[in-house]
Amino acid sequence: MKKTIRDFHLEGKKVIIRCDLNVPIKDGIIKDDTRIRKSLETINYAKANNAKIIILSHLGRIKTLEDKEVNDLNIVSKRLEELLNQPVTFINETRGKTLENAINNMNNQDIILIQNTRYEDLPDKLESTCDESLSKYWASLGDIFINDAFGTLHRAHASNVGISKYLPSGIGLLVEKELSSLNYLFNADKPFIIILGGSKVNDKIGVIENLIKECDKLLIGGGMAFTFLKADGYDVGNSIVDESSLDFCKRLLKEYHNKIVLPVDVICNDSFIDKEGKKKDITEIKDDLIGLDIGPDTIEIFKNNLQSASSILWNGPLGVYEFTNYSKGTNEILKYISTLPAKAVLGGGDIIAAATNFGYVDKLYHASTGGGATLEFLEGKDLPGLKNIEEV
Ligand code: AMP
Repeated sequence: MKKTIRDFHLEGKKVIIRCDLNVPIKDGIIKDDTRIRKSLETINYAKANNAKIIILSHLGRIKTLEDKEVNDLNIVSKRLEELLNQPVTFINETRGKTLENAINNMNNQDIILIQNTRYEDLPDKLESTCDESLSKYWASLGDIFINDAFGTLHRAHASNVGISKYLPSGIGLLVEKELSSLNYLFNADKPFIIILGGSKVNDKIGVIENLIKECDKLLIGGGMAFTFLKADGYDVGNSIVDESSLDFCKRLLKEYHNKIVLPVDVICNDSFIDKEGKKKDITEIKDDLIGLDIGPDTIEIFKNNLQSASSILWNGPLGVYEFTNYSKGTNEILKYISTLPAKAVLGGGDIIAAATNFGYVDKLYHASTGGGATLEFLEGKDLPGLKNIEEV
């Protein structure tokens, strides 16, 4: 078991917390502050234990000077202040005298947020290549390192992995919760049902390979269903198909035909725009039709499979949920599982966005904050962000 923040004596210590404050921002407005909210528990824990709190986070990707402008963490600092209801000292630098002086003058319970760690990626990618001297420098600013950035656990960067080589290190409360909720799926109470959707098959193959034996049923919707349907011999018209995954789908359908549940009807249109679609059975998707959502018969079949579930894992929306006309499948199934006693774990950016927008996210057992990190964990891979964290 990994050490957590609870395993350290924090009083008076400079505790560097690597958070994932990588929130979507458009025109200077934070569109969804979930990741900031999810970081509060660890920050508040450190505060309640009289630590001096130094926060590191990335925001977006930094390749050009314009990227720096739109990914300035100052805006996140303001939101953090509001949510914590206390001042946060924002340091508009990733290193240097101003930062060092501010840290030297901290009192217990003070909070400093350092500018976007990926500013160090311009020009030399020092953060993303886990540069040794940058890692050492950041480590020199604190006494203890806590990694609470679940969303970047699959990356080996200076601010999450490099730094942990040089300081006593533990995980934060968000990472602890994520790991225990996702670990549950490797030994989930049965019946265990997996729902997969989204557009691509390719990036879910690892998860399917690792978990199909564990689950009782695999319900497939969204764009990826058409690759399975084509592999099964159906004409899918102009629907999205991941040609490179057809052989994989054929093998899976042969080996696990009792477990895999594919749509029997879909909502189609003749172009990829948000207008009322037509219900078609999967034998009727001809020529230029595009399947954009699961149909009402499929919704019923999915519900029947889910009704007695004890555990559910869901990754990827069941249709183009961003368009009102094709959001019904995702919305109805979210609504349905929110009424079930099953432990439902949602992973991946789009299904979390759908659950948040449609108002179900707080009614589910666990909504994972990671995209790539969640998938890699479920594939059974070791996450670099945990490598240097000490065991209890
Ligand atoms: P992914 O990154 O593979 O999980 O894909 C997520 C995207 O899949 C979302 O933006 C959805 O709009 C899209 N999607 C879901 N169903 C379909 C579909 N039937 N055709 C095309 N795209 C879809």
